[in-house]
Amino acid sequence: MKQHNISAILKHIWKHDQISRIELVESTGLTSGTLTNLTHELIEAKVIREYQSVSGTGTAGRKRVLLAFDPHYYRIIGLDIGRSSYELVLTDLTGKIIKSMSGNTKAALGPEGFMGMIGTNLEELKKEVIAAGHKILGLGVGVPGPIDYASGSLIAPPNFERWDGYPLQQVLESRTGIPSLIEDDARTSALAESWYGLGRNGMNLVFVTMGIGIGGGVISGGEIVRGANGLYGQVGHMTIEPNGIRCECGNRGCWETVGSIPGILRRWGGSDIGELMHAVRDGKADARQCMDETLQYLEMALVNIFNMYDPEMIVLGGRLYPYLNPYLTEIQERMRSRIYAFAKDRVLLQPSTFGPSQSAMGATAIVLDALISRPVEILS
Ligand SMILES: [Zn+2]
Repeated sequence: MKQHNISAILKHIWKHDQISRIELVESTGLTSGTLTNLTHELIEAKVIREYQSVSGTGTAGRKRVLLAFDPHYYRIIGLDIGRSSYELVLTDLTGKIIKSMSGNTKAALGPEGFMGMIGTNLEELKKEVIAAGHKILGLGVGVPGPIDYASGSLIAPPNFERWDGYPLQQVLESRTGIPSLIEDDARTSALAESWYGLGRNGMNLVFVTMGIGIGGGVISGGEIVRGANGLYGQVGHMTIEPNGIRCECGNRGCWETVGSIPGILRRWGGSDIGELMHAVRDGKADARQCMDETLQYLEMALVNIFNMYDPEMIVLGGRLYPYLNPYLTEIQERMRSRIYAFAKDRVLLQPSTFGPSQSAMGATAIVLDALISRPVEILS
C-alpha cells in the first residue's frame, strides 16, 4: 500500500515537473495527512525537494511551495554497449547529464575483455560520485537484443556473436556493486524520448534505430511493450524481399539485410557509408540507384510500422540516420500517399533528440522507472 501511494506521488511529480501538495492531493486521491507524511519521507530520502515559487510581481506576488525531483543527491548511470562503440552518461534525478564518456567496444575483445575495460571505468566513476557526497541509484544498460530478462543475459545478438548467453546483468552487479538493469537498445532509445524527449506524457511512439542492425522500440500509452518473447517491435526483421538473402534471425529478406549499413554497402558493393554518400552527391549512377532503393525500402518499412502500431510519431535514430536525415521530409510525403487518407496528415517522422547518447540516456530511464514504480524496494 505504501509503495503504491509513494509511486502515485512520484508519477505525478514527474509528469508535472513541479507540483504543489494541494494539486497532488487532488490528482492522487490521497488524504492530505497521508500526502504530507509521504512527501516528508521522500524529502528526507533526498528523492524530492520543495521550493518556493512566486507567481506575479510585487506585493501581489503569491508564494507557493512546490515539489520536484531533487537533482542534488542521487545519480544514475546509463550505459549503451553497441557493436562498435559504447556511450556512458551520469545523470541526476531530473535527467540532466552531469558527465559522459564514450569509446570503442572493440568487438574482438568479446564480453570479458570489454568488461575488464568498462568495469574499471565504472569503479572509478563510482568512487568519484561517492567522494563528491552523492549516491548511485542504479546502472541501466542498453545492448543489442534479444534479451533474456529473467537471467539478464543476451540471446544470440546478430553480429555480436561472442555475447550470446553472456550474463551481463549479473557480471555488472558483482563487479561494481551497483544494482543493474539491462534492456534492448532500441527500447532504451524509445524510453529516452518518452521520458526526456519528444514523447513525454503518455504518447504512443515507435523508435527505429538504424546502424549495423535495425531495431525498434514501441511505447504504447507511455509504457514500453515487450511482447510474449521480448520480440515486440523488432521492425528490422519484417520481411521486405520475399526471396532475399538469409538474415541472422533465420528468416530471408528482412529489412535489416537490405536497409542496415552492412546491407546497403553489400548492395552497393563498397565498404564505407561515407564514400557512398559522396558518390551519391557526385551523381554516380550506381550510388544513386543504391540510395533510391534504400529510400524505397525505408518508405515501405515505415508505412508497415505506421499501419501496425498507429503511433503519434515515428522517431528515427542510430548511426545510419544522419545520412538519411536530408530525405526525411520527402519520405514523410511519400508515406502519406500510401496510408489511409483520413490519417495521412497524422504521419509524423522525427529525428531522435539525443544523437549518439540516445540509448545511454534511455538506459538511465529504466532505473528512474524502477524508482517510480517500486520506490520502497529501490530505496531500501
Ligand atoms: Zn531477420
